[in-house]
Amino acid sequence: MLHIRNYINGTFHDPQTHEWIENINPATGEIFALVARSGAGDVDAAVAAATDAFPQWSGLTSKQRSDILLRVSKKIAEHFDELARAETDDNGKPLWLSKAIDIPRAEANLAFFATEILHTETAAHVTDNHVFNYTVRSPLGVVGCISPWNLPLYLFTWKIAPALAAGNCVVAKPSELTPLTSFLFSQLCIDAGLPPGVLNIVHGLGAECGDAIVKHRDIKAISFTGGTVTGRTIAATAAPMFKKLSLELGGKNPTIVFDDVDIHHTARHVARAAYTNQGEICLCGSRIFVAQNIYKEFRTALIEEIRRFVVGDPLDEPTKTGAIVSKAQMDKILSYIDLAIQEGGTVLTGGKRVMLKGRCSNGFFVEPTLIEGLDSKCRVNQEEIFGPVATLMPFSDDEEVIEAANSTSYGLAASVWCRDISRAHKVAHRLESGIVWVNCWLVRDLRTPFGGMKNSGVGREGGVEALRFFTEAKNVCVQF
Ligand code: NAD
Repeated sequence: MLHIRNYINGTFHDPQTHEWIENINPATGEIFALVARSGAGDVDAAVAAATDAFPQWSGLTSKQRSDILLRVSKKIAEHFDELARAETDDNGKPLWLSKAIDIPRAEANLAFFATEILHTETAAHVTDNHVFNYTVRSPLGVVGCISPWNLPLYLFTWKIAPALAAGNCVVAKPSELTPLTSFLFSQLCIDAGLPPGVLNIVHGLGAECGDAIVKHRDIKAISFTGGTVTGRTIAATAAPMFKKLSLELGGKNPTIVFDDVDIHHTARHVARAAYTNQGEICLCGSRIFVAQNIYKEFRTALIEEIRRFVVGDPLDEPTKTGAIVSKAQMDKILSYIDLAIQEGGTVLTGGKRVMLKGRCSNGFFVEPTLIEGLDSKCRVNQEEIFGPVATLMPFSDDEEVIEAANSTSYGLAASVWCRDISRAHKVAHRLESGIVWVNCWLVRDLRTPFGGMKNSGVGREGGVEALRFFTEAKNVCVQF
């Protein structure tokens, strides 16, 4: 049985607790690895290694750090197939999706921040003829990065790449449900020549290992992506310690379709926005608002598109919907479908667990599900489900749809589908959302600010925002 061990100070270690967590392939229900169940002692060892490594790593030139991180990025490319298969076995997502999105993006994250640090500039303010100020940015020291299970290596590297590029040393924890690719990544870091202690990866449960990272007094900042409830717990622990916090949390994202669109083209993209990765992307559009006068026609087209999201073995080419990450997550999704019916909704398509034959007969699969007839204030339309479930609602004018779209406690992402571009701009400006896509979804430029408003998070990742988060600004004022 594969043992997923901690990567501390450049080598692999069993957890000091000697305890292990079972790692299940959600497509087959089989235990295929054991994951270190680390505790505070392992986190202490990781922080000590990171602290020792910090002076040398932060003392390298940007070019030297960039060269090493580019070598790590190249290692991801060299191990592309192995990593894609590992991501699929761990998470349940279709293999083609791991190959199309997860692993290329992990490679890009490293390359992007490795080169971004070569192109930054700093501010200078000329105060008067005899005084000027300039800003120096320094790394924070040892920082903690905690990531979720839905885009495992993608989101793990999205955090550690800017942290390392900016000159910090890192203690990172991937989700206990999907630790495999970050474990394989540890070896790639060794092979690429990343100095020992610069990156340390500890595995374990959130309430134990994750909590020990958040509480550690030598960790200066926490970059967290995960659920809003967890984010609140982390903020309550870290805020009184005056740690810098970046929180990327849940979403309940609106998709707004106006009546001037090409119905079939838009239905295809709206389905993609709702059901890609089994709906397990924080950016998925799970509340679909459609203009009243095209509602019926759009509904027919959307159902047709949703039925193309074939549920199947993640290793099979035609599969568009793989397994849900865990039995607990599948049960949660199914319970929300039951709730939707209790709240007066009608299931237009899907609605059930799927039992496959053969290798996947014990896997956790749910049909892509569309529900109509629900009020935008009901629980199903207010709470994050994080699965292949979306609701469909008609609207009659801009004011009504803006109010409904903004009616949740979340504010992560939205998409607006509209040919009238001036109307699209007006609506985009009024949506309470950190990201608004117009006539597209999940188009990403890594330089742009990424993050949510309201209960979807605090702070922004991406581009210069990430480098700002992982550095401290100092103003130097000079009179001459
Ligand atoms: P989660 O909050 O359960 O776990 C996320 C990570 O936090 C895991 O590594 C977990 O072990 C750790 N953790 C849990 N409790 C902790 C604690 N008390 N202290 C420290 N660490 C702790 O989230 P999840 O179920 O893994 O992921 C799904 C959630 O993530 C959804 O809500 C989704 O919307 C959100 N998400 C947000 C974004 C974004 O960019 N905003 C991206 C992806 C996922």
